[in-house]
Amino acid sequence: MIDYQSHFESAIEALHAERRYRVFADLERIAGRFPAAIWRHEGETREITVWCSNDYLGMGQHPAVVDAMSGTLSAMGSGAGGTRNISGTSHPLVELEAELADLHGKEAALVFTSGFVSNDASISTIAKLLPDCLILSDELNHASMIEGVRRSGCRKQVFRHNDLAHLEELLKAADPERPKLIVFESVYSMDGDVAPIEAICDLAERYNAMTYIDEVHAVGMYGARGGGISERDGVAGRLDVIEGTLAKAFGVLGGYIAGSRALVDSVRSYAPGFIFTTALPPALAAAATASIRHLKASGAERAGQQRQAAKVKAEFTASDLPVMPSDTHIVPLWVGDPELCKQASDRLLDRHGIYIQPINYPTVPRGTERLRITPTPLHDDALVAKLTAALLETWTALGIPFASERPARSDESDAVPALLVSKAGG
Ligand SMILES: *Cc1c(COP(=O)(O)O)cnc(C)c1O
Repeated sequence: MIDYQSHFESAIEALHAERRYRVFADLERIAGRFPAAIWRHEGETREITVWCSNDYLGMGQHPAVVDAMSGTLSAMGSGAGGTRNISGTSHPLVELEAELADLHGKEAALVFTSGFVSNDASISTIAKLLPDCLILSDELNHASMIEGVRRSGCRKQVFRHNDLAHLEELLKAADPERPKLIVFESVYSMDGDVAPIEAICDLAERYNAMTYIDEVHAVGMYGARGGGISERDGVAGRLDVIEGTLAKAFGVLGGYIAGSRALVDSVRSYAPGFIFTTALPPALAAAATASIRHLKASGAERAGQQRQAAKVKAEFTASDLPVMPSDTHIVPLWVGDPELCKQASDRLLDRHGIYIQPINYPTVPRGTERLRITPTPLHDDALVAKLTAALLETWTALGIPFASERPARSDESDAVPALLVSKAGG
């Protein structure tokens, strides 16, 4: 007899033993009152404040977005009715793709049902269409990119995070005639650091490589029209493929790539992850278009986000909380232990009505566990003050080291080789 259940039970046990079994809070967002939400727990219902949402600008409840979704829902119904191959493309999706191509200044764009699927399907398909392609991948790339790289079946080389010298070394060593694809992100969402995009484009040009960038944590939030870091830095035109999500700053659901007509048409025509799955429903497409259009014209949300993120960082620094250096809207707070990280998160929710998900391995390297805080324009100064007080209470109660008590910063850089070993790279 094979005891099938025991295999699943011991898999779960292993996670408990490592203190990284994940529990999802039962939350209900309240349109019009972001970042407040209802938390249901052990038969009780409480109102809490969410401090870790990837709805970075609160667009998920913006009237223009909600109206576009409900209006289109009433007019066109709920589902897409099938794959685009079977059911054609709903008109809102045609408009969305035109909007995205324009956002990034590219000839074409293609929408997928999520950002994960867009990376997985596009990277694997693009690399497969190039003869004997060599993929150069940043070691901290997101799981969806790693999956696309893996499924391409192509040879990959991992370069140290944002390390131009290492990337150049690998490019230089490769056969000049061999097609090469550099895959990387603009904003890395766990540390909040930014890739040297222009310098990577210089290397790509020098060694005749293609570039594929994930701007998931930047679209809507950077650049004069929300085109991401590549727009802010004026380098969008030099990137071959820009990938993004409609689910974070744009507040809806779906993912996309933007690039040349031929490249986008190839992914449309060859990627199973695009072809054999039902299209994004029209109401979601219309909502995403409304969100993108709003953020193209309005810089108020971006300015508010930057202002409140700076405010949080300043308050934490003044309070001796171990805020990790970050160049962006992401505010990581160092804990360095999975059990303490979980306990801090639980205590913040139980005692203070503040929800911040613990970030543990394998999302980040072991020993670099942290709380990842994402201030939005709607987290006002009063909420920031409450958050700071709650964290001070929690840090003291649990004995988590404050910034001045922490060992030297070398732990952060030491974490990188550990990650290389544990994940075998990006
Ligand atoms: C969240 C995320 C994705 C996936 O996007 P979804 O739309 O949530 O599927 C891709 N890349 C990065 C870097 C992400 O953080």
